[in-house]
Amino acid sequence: MEIKKKYVYTGIALGIVALGVGLYLSRKKIYEHFDYKTDLLLLSLDPVFRKKIKHLLSKARDIGMELRVISAYRDCAEQNKLYAQGRTAPGKIVTNAKCGKSSHNYKKAVDIVEFKNGQPLWNNPNWEKIGQMGEALGLEWGGRWTSIKDKPHFQDLAGKTVASLYREYERTGILAA
Ligand SMILES: [Zn+2]
Repeated sequence: MEIKKKYVYTGIALGIVALGVGLYLSRKKIYEHFDYKTDLLLLSLDPVFRKKIKHLLSKARDIGMELRVISAYRDCAEQNKLYAQGRTAPGKIVTNAKCGKSSHNYKKAVDIVEFKNGQPLWNNPNWEKIGQMGEALGLEWGGRWTSIKDKPHFQDLAGKTVASLYREYERTGILAA
């Protein structure tokens, strides 16, 4: 009799745990894979930040929206090349940041765009919605900026600023978040 009771209680306890796990997973469903380039770019990010971006892409997928990462970590060479664009190199100016002055150099920023039928939607009526989805996950959205409004841009410097990270870079010579 006692043993039977023990089984019943164990069964109930396991049921409750399974229910809890199920609820937790359904609340925080994060997909592992996206398109090939997004997967590759995600690997270049700080792991904690990467998880938040995966969460954002997953939330979008759940409502039938495909978001792709088009830029993530940029090293000094890449950042300076981008800075030269529209100044000493052809093209239009896309950034005011030299190496060390962009959150992309610290692995905590991405540029994201919605794709439909394999095409990026730059003029997208969903920008505000995408921005709000990111903000709900604690991300800072470049669409709120006033200097250069940067709708594809999301970052999370975890309480730090690019200025403080840059001072650290100047001191150590190492780009580290
Ligand atoms: Zn950006």
